[in-house]
Parts: sequence; C-alpha cells; structure tokens
Amino acid sequence: MAKDYYEILGVSRNATKEEIKKAYRKLAKKYHPDLNKDDPSAAEKFKEINEAAAVLLDDEKRRQYDLYGSDANFDFSGSNFGSDFGFNFDFDDIFDMFFGDSSRRRSSSTKRGEDIYLDLEVDLEDVVHGSEKKVSYTAYDVCDVCNGRGFVNDNDVQICDVCKGHGYVKNVKRTIFGVFSTTTVCKKCAGEGKIIINPCKKCKGTGRLLTKKQLVVKIPKGINNGEILRVRGEGSAGLNSGVKGNLYIRVYVREHPVFKRKGNDLYVEVPVSFVKLALGTKIEVPNLSNQRIILNIPKSTETHTLFRIKGEGINGGDLYVKVIGSYKLDKATEKALKSISDKVSDPYLDFVKKNEKFFPKK
Ligand SMILES: [Zn+2]
Ligand SMILES: [Zn+2]
Repeated sequence: MAKDYYEILGVSRNATKEEIKKAYRKLAKKYHPDLNKDDPSAAEKFKEINEAAAVLLDDEKRRQYDLYGSDANFDFSGSNFGSDFGFNFDFDDIFDMFFGDSSRRRSSSTKRGEDIYLDLEVDLEDVVHGSEKKVSYTAYDVCDVCNGRGFVNDNDVQICDVCKGHGYVKNVKRTIFGVFSTTTVCKKCAGEGKIIINPCKKCKGTGRLLTKKQLVVKIPKGINNGEILRVRGEGSAGLNSGVKGNLYIRVYVREHPVFKRKGNDLYVEVPVSFVKLALGTKIEVPNLSNQRIILNIPKSTETHTLFRIKGEGINGGDLYVKVIGSYKLDKATEKALKSISDKVSDPYLDFVKKNEKFFPKK
C-alpha cells in the first residue's frame, strides 16, 4: 500500500522543514486521540501523521522516500522516532500520553536493522536470460562474541537503580496539551531495566559489528531499467534482537551496442546492399537467444523496412529487424550497373509525364 506522506500532511513535495513542522503540529493537535475520544479513526490518522512527519523531517529518510516511495520500508519502532521534530516535548511522552496502554509502547531498545540501498548495473543479456550477480556491501551483523547482547557474562550487567528494573518511570508533566500523568522510558537505562557495566570489547556494547557482505542476487528475466529488487532480511541486523533490515537493489540495464529494447521487444538494424534488397535475399539475423535465425527478404524490399520475428525478444516479446539499404558502390558493381542503367525502367520518367504542368517549359 503506497502512502503519500506529502498528501497526509497536506504539504507540497518541495515543502521546507518549517512548513512540514507547521503542518504536523496543526494536524497532531487536531487528531490527537485524547481530543477525539468519539472517533476511533483519529488514532489511526494520528499515527499516520507521525509516520509521515518522521520520514519527511529526516533528511536521509526523505531522500529515500522521494527515491523509492513508501516501499523504502522505514522503521517506525526505532528509538530515533520523532527525535528530529525539534519540539519542546519528548515524543515518548506524547506517544505514551496518547496511547496510554503500555502494550502499545515499544520495547525501548529493540530496533529494526537499517535497510541498505545498492545500485547494480547489468547487461541486456542478463535481462533476456535472467542471471545471478554477486553484490558486495557493508552492513551491521550481530556481534559474534556477545551474540548481540552487548555484554558477555550475566554479571556484566546490573539492575538499573533509577527504575528498579522496570524500564520506565512515572511522572506528571505539563505539555502544550495540558497536564498529564505519564509513564516515560527510564533515561538512565533507556528502558532496558539494566545497565551494562562491562560492555563487550569487540562491539563496545552495541551488539553489532560492521561487516563486509557478499550475496548472490537473482536477476529476474525481463527486469526493467531502474526496477528495485528487495532482498528481505539482508540489510543490517537489528539492535537487541530487532528484525533485520532489507537490502534494496536498484537495477540499471546497460545500453547494448547492437540491440535496443522497448518493453519486451528487441530492435536491431542490419545494413543490406540495395541491390540485394531489390533482388530479394536471405540474411542471418543477430539475436540474444543463441539461435540461428534466417530472415527471408523478398524482392523489391524498400530500405528501412521492419521485419518482425515472433517470440525472439524478452519473455516472449518479439525481435524487430530493420533493414537499412546501403548504396555504397565498389568499382565492379558500378560498372555492371552503368551498363544496364539505360535499360532499367524508371518510375521517375512516369512521374514527370504525369505532372508535366508542374515542370515549366524552357
Ligand atoms: Zn559484542
Ligand atoms: Zn532504568
């Protein structure tokens, strides 16, 4: 389902951050569930507004969204959700305030892994037959020393003394919407309920390591230039057993020196002597199907005539052969033709006769 974040916020595609913030503030107030208790759809709408703002206010996410649309699969459970809003309240607070029940509250430290974006160039041959390509990239992997925990032994962590291991603290807060009793994520332990006192040395407690990766990707038959392949779960590992991100590969098809492509059809131009076009001939046609294809050119064929060879394009498309008459003469042909040129019937003479009145007399 494609979501138009610009439409959701009612801003233009080239809206500035200020304009987006302004639109967000207005809509967040209008739809925040506490003010719309009779309208259950408001919560959904509110979520949508936040999602749109989270993407459009983040330069990198906005860039990806503009490029790839909502297929970019942004992460809305991550801890940076709303961090760039620049408002004088904590997004965790208003999220809790609006959605109240803790079941909707995200686990504070689980974070989905980042998506990775790659460009890949392939040849037309790869598109005709389908192929496999090796891609290399860098992504986060789960640390093999601590298995992503950030520490090695159980006694490398302590229960958080601020929240006593709950991961959240209760407090009363004044906000632009009034006074609310809120439950907020414990700042000391970031909601973990525990604090790592002796972090894993290899990953410095992050639980992840930047790793060079290689992957063989299937290029499907007939893929279009600019199409994006999604490889699920081949992006970065999540934080604290968060879901893995995806790998997105944008496939560019190189221009072919001989064949042009239109959809699933292929086009090739073949030069043929005008004498042979006139007399009729057989030529072998180049193609990408590893087949011998003989094309029968009937006599009196005009230059630039297009012949269709069914099923020899991509995925059942056709191969079009355009014959280009060549009028270059070698000495021998010139001599031979001169000797018969006076005997050859010439439609030009008929043309002159028919249109005499347009040829002024001397
Ligand atoms: Zn580690
Ligand atoms: Zn704590």
